[in-house]
Parts: sequence; structure tokens; C-alpha cells
Amino acid sequence: MCVLYCVRSLKLAISRLKEEVMESKTRTKSPEDLAEGKYERIFVSSLVRPDEVGVKFDNVGALDHVKKVLNELVILPMKRPDLFSSGLLRPCKGLLLFGPPGTGKTLLAKALATEAGANFINVTSASLTSKWYGEDEKLITALFSFARKISPVIIFLDEVDGLLGGRGKSSETSRTIRNEFMMFWDGLTSNDSHRILILGATNRPFDLDEPILRRMPRRVYVDLPNAENRLKILKVLLTDQENLESGFSFEQLAHATDGYSGSDLKNLCVAAAYRPVEELLQEESKEGGRVDGGVSTLRPLKLDDFIHSKAKVGPSVLENSFKLREWNDQYGEGGSRRKRRFGFDLNLNKQMFDDERAREK
Ligand code: ADP
Repeated sequence: MCVLYCVRSLKLAISRLKEEVMESKTRTKSPEDLAEGKYERIFVSSLVRPDEVGVKFDNVGALDHVKKVLNELVILPMKRPDLFSSGLLRPCKGLLLFGPPGTGKTLLAKALATEAGANFINVTSASLTSKWYGEDEKLITALFSFARKISPVIIFLDEVDGLLGGRGKSSETSRTIRNEFMMFWDGLTSNDSHRILILGATNRPFDLDEPILRRMPRRVYVDLPNAENRLKILKVLLTDQENLESGFSFEQLAHATDGYSGSDLKNLCVAAAYRPVEELLQEESKEGGRVDGGVSTLRPLKLDDFIHSKAKVGPSVLENSFKLREWNDQYGEGGSRRKRRFGFDLNLNKQMFDDERAREK
């Protein structure tokens, strides 16, 4: 009995040792060396290593609650898998960031990779679609096998509705991609999900159907910034980068930019920063051109530059903002779905079932 027990323990120890040796070999190899075959190599070009991403949470203005959720759901499990290996605390295999365009979803995804020390693969429809019959499946198989080798990794699906949508008309190819993707997604073991995260982003979450939503149980709303958050974003965009007049009022600018997304604010800042350049060039042309070797100094940026630039860069038009808030309330993190008596899916399921049947016809 005792001998049998010793042999079993020895076998277990040897197999663990083998796993560790394999893991340490993989750790020392570069992603280029780890990629096998032409399909895996395709994803090497869309891979960004954590030290190359170049964006941290500090570069994302506002969105503090989103950063907090991402910290709990992704960073902690990736950095401390030991705390999430048993019991109720499990890392999530899929997470959705949704909200109006330009609110910083892609920026957050990149910063998340840096903060979690994870590789980042940006997957688009183009990288999963091939013009050759049968190759789409091979690409998806390669994506997941490569991801396992280079984990920890975040597989980022920008515009996930277009890639895996499910609602409305879809072609044979997109159905194949979707089914194949979901099959591999389900195949991620709990061990993998400490190290591999499927992170989707979309402006149109209502185009995602039940099978996809089920695989993304955590859905975080990235909303348009209010005045307080616009102020935070402007500080990130302008501090250390631009020469501002003394006493520059961030508060006034934040209040003057109602409806602007983070991306609109960035574009407004660029337009404003161009005004002193324009003035200098005009000045120089009046004086008969720039003196060779002379050093040109730009005047500091004034609030007025931004106010004038609003005529060029306005807030993006938002067709779906009401629909997005409503969707968040129903299906998003912290939305009212928790208050529903019979779970969140009853009406949605019926609608989805009808859609599914309509598609099959
Ligand atoms: P989305 O993916 O939501 O459409 P992006 O992340 O692509 O938006 O944002 C586009 C650009 O707008 C970013 O690269 C960044 O320059 C700017 N931006 C958006 N949101 C923020 C933010 N919260 N803080 C700083 N910059 C932002």
C-alpha cells in the first residue's frame, strides 16, 4: 500500500517537473520562435508584447470604475493565479467593453495588457478570414494554439459585433468563423483562463446574441465623459505635452466641451495646438521667411485656441446613446439585471430564439 502510494507520488512529481521544464523552455523563447507553421506565424505580426504596448492606466483619463473592474477581473487573476484557482473566485474567460465610439475602449485594452504584463493580440475580421476555402478554421485553430504558447495573453476583438455578431443576416463564412471561435473559446480550460482572456469591444452590443453574451459574462460600460471626467482626460492629454498659458483653466474647457468623447477631445487639442504654429508661419511669411538657423518659439496655448477650434472639431454625433444606456441597464455590469426576479435572459432569450429561427429559415 505504502509502496504504491510512493510510486504514485513519484509519478506525479515527475509529471509536474516535466510540465515546469516545458513551461520554462517556452518562457525563454520569443513569440517568433514559438509560432509553428504558416497559420500561427500570421498572428506574430499582430502581436504586441507588454513592454511594447506603450500605454498604461495613467495614460487613460477618467474611467476609474472601469479600471477598478479590470483590475479585479483581469489583472489580479493574471498576476496571482494562485488566489483564483479554487472555490468561487474564478477568472473570467470573456469580457466585453461597450460604449460610444472614441470613449477609450481600445486604449483601455492596450493599457490593460501593460498593467497585467500580458501579450496583446489584436484580432480583426481580416485576420480570421481567408479567401481560400477551409482556411478560416485553420486560422482560428492557430490563433488559440499560438495564444496558449505565448500566454499570458489578451485576445482583443475590436468591433466584436462584426466578427462574431450573430444577429441579422450572416454569410456562410461568418457563421463558420463564429462557430469555430466559440468551440475553441469553450475549450479553454480553467488553467488557460488564468492566462488567456478574450476581450471584446463594441459600439453595438445589441447586435450580439445570446451565445456570445453568455461567453462574456462581464460587460463593462465605457460611457461618454461628463464634465468632471472630461477635465481628467484633458489633463492627461495636455499635461507634460503642451505649453499652456499660465492659469490655463481646465475647468472652463471641460465645461465648454459637453458631448465630446475622449477621442473628440484629443482631436480638439490637436486642432488647438496647430493655431500657434499657423500664427508663427504667417508671421514668418510676412517677414520674408524664416531666418536660416534661427530658433522659432511658439507662444503658449490659450483657452481661446480651444474655443475657436470647436468650430472645426465638434462632438461626435451619437445615434445610439439612449439605446446603449438602456442596454447597459439591462445587461451591463452593475445594471438593473441583478434586480430582476427571474434572471436577465427571459425576454432576451425569446427574442434571440426568434431571431435564430428567422435566420435558419
Ligand atoms: P474606442 O475604442 O472606444 O472607439 P479609442 O480607444 O480608439 O476609442 O480612442 C481613440 C483615441 O482617443 C485614443 O487613442 C486616445 O488618444 C483618445 N482617448 C479616448 N478616450 C480617452 C481617455 N479616456 N483618456 C485619454 N485619451 C483618450
